[in-house]
Amino acid sequence: MRLLVIGSGGREHALVWKLAQSPHVTQMWCAPGNAGIGEERLARNQASVECVNIGAEDLPAVLAFAQEKKADLTVVGPDNPLALGIVDLFHQKGLRIWGVNRRAAQFESSKVFSQKFMGKYGIPTAAAGTFDEASAAKKFCALLGGHCVVKADGLALGKGVLICADVTEANRAVDAIMVNRVFGAAGARVVIQEFLEGIEISLHALCDGKTAKLFPTSQDHKRALGGDLGLNTGGMGTYSPTPFLSEAQLAEAGRRILSPWLKGCAAEGIDFRGVLYPGIMLTKDGPKVLEFNVRLGDPETQVYLTRLESDLVELLDASVGGRLDKMELKWSPMASVCVVMASGGYPGSYEKGKVISGLDAANALPHTKVFHAGTARSGDRFVTNGGRVLGVTAWAKDLRTAQAEAYAAVEKIHFDGAHFRRDIAAKALA
Ligand code: AMP
Repeated sequence: MRLLVIGSGGREHALVWKLAQSPHVTQMWCAPGNAGIGEERLARNQASVECVNIGAEDLPAVLAFAQEKKADLTVVGPDNPLALGIVDLFHQKGLRIWGVNRRAAQFESSKVFSQKFMGKYGIPTAAAGTFDEASAAKKFCALLGGHCVVKADGLALGKGVLICADVTEANRAVDAIMVNRVFGAAGARVVIQEFLEGIEISLHALCDGKTAKLFPTSQDHKRALGGDLGLNTGGMGTYSPTPFLSEAQLAEAGRRILSPWLKGCAAEGIDFRGVLYPGIMLTKDGPKVLEFNVRLGDPETQVYLTRLESDLVELLDASVGGRLDKMELKWSPMASVCVVMASGGYPGSYEKGKVISGLDAANALPHTKVFHAGTARSGDRFVTNGGRVLGVTAWAKDLRTAQAEAYAAVEKIHFDGAHFRRDIAAKALA
């Protein structure tokens, strides 16, 4: 099979790395990819993965490339091309593509859509309301005593969520989003949720329109600094599995969330073939959905794919073809930890072009893989080229060992200004 992978982050490097291990793959491209992706080779024939300079959101160019190269399957990593309708476009041209169509992508591109859907189909979530008018929104915040979360409806680069402690803050948040439009058009409507206390985890399920197969649990670390301090980021590290849900509790959460969700999709005629990734709060009243994403998490993918034993090409093909009921997702019992190394200043402004050393030494460690995110080539050297630079991932028989090994690999890698959290997976080991 000839595969085209869309995207350029750590998630896409992990996808390429895992897909390249499949004996089905004879040729692979990544648009636009990154410097680490260009180093991967296919298990079947040792061919290099080729990065092509096409942006993930340049749909006409991606389509033309897939047609020219006769790609048998295109695999979409990030959410933006999905929300833009890349899957619908490929289907119109008769091309095979993995990822959700534009209608299904609404679960992520519209928080109002998701919240209404959860209410309609009885999916456990926070007490919430949806509003297109500021004064009604403020009244609802007051009903919640002001301790609430105000969320812009549309995609806002992960920033459109304001957590409020009291009525004054809530009113200010509604004004910022709905009146002053600090997140632009994304703030024309809002979701307001009660503030939920608990531990936050990520769930993922691979879906084919009828069947949803749950992954093990994982936990992201969204804040920039140790102890969950500092600004929100795209994610500073992950580990899997988490100790906060037993296998039985995970299966129960899956039933309570995925069964009504699948029923709702069928009732609404939403053909969801891709990954559903609900953000979950484990509250004293059980797991509740905070939001839905419609693609693999980054950096959750890095820990998941280092634990996945099944052939990923076969799984994605079954997801596209509606055959997931016949497939088994086999997971290694090992634990996996991913520590993100970021540019100094991230998630604020940062410099690019810093030389990265020690990658070979880190990758030479057993059960260790350094996934690239914001990297580029400069001559024969790797240099930084983004906020999140690397996802240093190690897997081992237990979480403590995996954590120690991930940090041992991190210690081998250097670039000017590198910053990373020293407490990835620490909560699970406390
Ligand atoms: P979201 O993009 O909706 O997942 O929100 C971003 C982050 O805000 C989440 O990862 C949570 O940490 C926090 N958050 C969102 N909704 C709630 C809520 N209802 N209660 C407490 N925290 C929340």
